[in-house]
Amino acid sequence: MNLLIMGGPGAGKGTMSEKILEKYEILHISTGDIFRAEMAQQTELGLLAKSYIDKGLLVPDDVTNPMVKSFLEKSDHSKGYLLDGYPRTLDQALAFQELVAGTDLEIDKVLFMDIPFEVLAQRVTGRRICKECKAIYHITNHPSKVDGVCDVCGGQLIQRKDDTVESLNVRVSEYQKLTQPVLDYYAKFGKVKKINADQSIDDVWADVQKALED
Ligand code: AMP
Repeated sequence: MNLLIMGGPGAGKGTMSEKILEKYEILHISTGDIFRAEMAQQTELGLLAKSYIDKGLLVPDDVTNPMVKSFLEKSDHSKGYLLDGYPRTLDQALAFQELVAGTDLEIDKVLFMDIPFEVLAQRVTGRRICKECKAIYHITNHPSKVDGVCDVCGGQLIQRKDDTVESLNVRVSEYQKLTQPVLDYYAKFGKVKKINADQSIDDVWADVQKALED
């Protein structure tokens, strides 16, 4: 089963990806993770990627596309894969399609985690993270026992700099501008499964499994 998961910031893509990988044991292809691993090892690719990522820019396609190709070639994808964070633009979608056309690596389904902006705003602006151990809380959905103090390590809870409505607005509109054409592209082939991401984690997961087993 070859999948692509898409969803804006805060849509719960990470949580569903973890569950999909655990249940179906397919290969995770997360371009963000690959870039972070390369940066940690300070490889040539990592240093190049860092110069874009640090500025909040996308890494150019002539770096990203070949990287995905070589990752696929050297990894075990016999049970399929889950693409996560790629393709992010129409050009990347077209490049990936050219790479896999006519092979058993074509994308079967695209899961689109759909959520209204107001819900995202509530999720993102209420998020607090522990300065020390990075545990994640939410002021209403998942509060710590003592206000402002981490349950796990007693560290101070802080709000991430970019967890504001203004910053979310920028991220969401950037996301939509680039990824809407990707969604439209896969919709033409009838591959998009829209998931209502504004539900409890269990209900979203039930819908995801239904969409995958359909
Ligand atoms: P992510 O963890 O998916 O948000 O990725 C972190 C950063 O890596 C992004 O902000 C981009 O700078 C870069 N990146 C990840 N995936 C891609 C991609 N498909 N194309 C270009 N840049 C990417």
